[in-house]
Amino acid sequence: MPEPLILVHGGAGSVPTESRQRHADGCALAASVGGEVLDSGGTAVEAVCAAVESLENNPIYNSGKGCALTCNGGVSLDSSVMCGKTNRAGGVACLGAFRNPVRVAQCLLEEETILLVGIEAERWAEAQGFERLQEDELIVPSAVKAWKHVVQEGGSSNWAGGTVGAVARDAHGDLAAATSTGGTMGKLPGRVGDSPLIGVGTYADELCAVSATGTGEAFMRAVFAARVADRIRRGEEPAGAIQNVLNRIERELGGAGGAISIPVEGDYAAIKSTTTMSHGWWSPGDSGGDC
Ligand code: ASP
Repeated sequence: MPEPLILVHGGAGSVPTESRQRHADGCALAASVGGEVLDSGGTAVEAVCAAVESLENNPIYNSGKGCALTCNGGVSLDSSVMCGKTNRAGGVACLGAFRNPVRVAQCLLEEETILLVGIEAERWAEAQGFERLQEDELIVPSAVKAWKHVVQEGGSSNWAGGTVGAVARDAHGDLAAATSTGGTMGKLPGRVGDSPLIGVGTYADELCAVSATGTGEAFMRAVFAARVADRIRRGEEPAGAIQNVLNRIERELGGAGGAISIPVEGDYAAIKSTTTMSHGWWSPGDSGGDC
């Protein structure tokens, strides 16, 4: 039986040198949170959701608290989860201020419906017992500063990525993936990125789990995670599979980003075409973070 393993990312982008350690440490912490779940016999789904929840609660990343803002300065959150064993999936898009969108997406694994959006996603989340917050509870000063730079000063929206995700393999060899984001800074209200879309930002089956981050529109055009998974199914290593699809995105679709992947057997991969992609890992006897 392959050994349990979890890998997380804190977004592809360009984290300034002086902040890289902090981003790596947050990922190492999230990986260890997911690792504890695996260590105590939890499933891959439970582990990725616990790890992503830890990243959502950390205001340095663009998800949950600390999320990017719409052009109106509002909160609009996207998240999804997929279980490789059952092929079940759940996702939310354009969700307002809820602390942990990944937990709402996780609840949808029990439903026939996969993706809920906007006000109806919020109503459903509240009906499941999730608390709706004031937007201010998720908006942090660094996000407001970046929002002003993009929306009021017309600056570049390359706000150090910060989307978060996790992939895991549990003690039974089952796989799962989850991703969560506030999306692109200054996005149109109602814009949905790649992160809540199964087969684009998130994918898991019996052979591999993938979570992506980057220019959402380009990743959608490439159907990113499904392409990576197809390559792995045909025998490519995860690192080569991610690199190949990233190359196509860069060459033909005008985007950049990165992804993490764990195969059912063999080496995991964290590959990017951007300057940085913070990530963390945990397996019995080995854990850490990098950016
Ligand atoms: N992929 C995310 C989106 O387009 C952004 C990111 O990963 O930084 O919503």
